[in-house]
Amino acid sequence: MRNSVVSALIAALVWALLPLLSLGTGGLPAHPGSVSAPPPAQTEGQEPPEDPLPQPVSGFDAGYRLPVLREGRTESMPLDRYLTGVLLSELPASFSDETRKAQAVACRTYALRSCAHPRHEGAAVCTDSVCCQGWRDPDSVSPALLAQAEAAVRATDGLCIRYQGALIDATFFSCSGGRTEDAAAVWGSELPYLRSVESPGEEMAAHFSDELRLPLEDFRARLLELDPEAELSGDPAGWIGDLRETPGGGVDEILLGGRPFRGTQLRKAFQLRSTAFTLRLNTQEAVFTTRGFGHRVGMSQYGAEAMARAGNDYVTILKWYYSGVDILPEAP
Ligand SMILES: [Zn+2]
Repeated sequence: MRNSVVSALIAALVWALLPLLSLGTGGLPAHPGSVSAPPPAQTEGQEPPEDPLPQPVSGFDAGYRLPVLREGRTESMPLDRYLTGVLLSELPASFSDETRKAQAVACRTYALRSCAHPRHEGAAVCTDSVCCQGWRDPDSVSPALLAQAEAAVRATDGLCIRYQGALIDATFFSCSGGRTEDAAAVWGSELPYLRSVESPGEEMAAHFSDELRLPLEDFRARLLELDPEAELSGDPAGWIGDLRETPGGGVDEILLGGRPFRGTQLRKAFQLRSTAFTLRLNTQEAVFTTRGFGHRVGMSQYGAEAMARAGNDYVTILKWYYSGVDILPEAP
């Protein structure tokens, strides 16, 4: 318990001090789409927030049937059961209620958008976390875990995230390493609500920072598979050339052996946890140090948890990670 109190205090402090610090930007200029400081947490005795929380639409999720591809068969599943299973799969049970509500709204938005743009033949979504969103059978967990997930779904019943009236592509990931990424830097096309924003307080995440070491010869061989014209001889320290960063502090492009390599290309080739990495070479080995885990576009789950522990509600969390959006009830 003591650890969680300490980390909650640290997270609150970091969020409070953010305007004074330049965390995680790596000296980059502020991105036009980024916000300079998070809104302060509400505390007792303060004025109520300007925008009251949106009202859930009681019964919306229970009455909405979603075609879900599960174990090779398409099942017509009530949306509330689907979302409960997604929360059980996608979030650690130790996370706060406000994080779970933010995740429920993001996952509902993803599901409803997938009905308009089905991701599978005859099904809006599947239950594979790599393809669509993960799903864990609500009948397979303890009553306490089930109640926790169901409460977050019920508290946000029928609420979705919209940008200029349209449901957004509500992407999320585990941990950014301090700053999220622009959609364009990862997928090539700009989305106004998927902009790089700061995401402090994620140090509690297991993969906040990781190191990958591999023998220099393996590194060299794999790079030459990607580009046989790379000039990889002599002192390895001299192989590394100029690097161009993405708005979110990832590697956009790096020169290795005089040839350009994309950060996304290297992430795939070396199975790096993210494109936010630094690289060191010596005569023995190559050392990648990565920050964050995942594509880093949209909502950071660990960043959302840091905001929740600092006292922010789920609407504030969603509006922080998805720029310029509204949280609105769906028509019943
Ligand atoms: Zn799928």
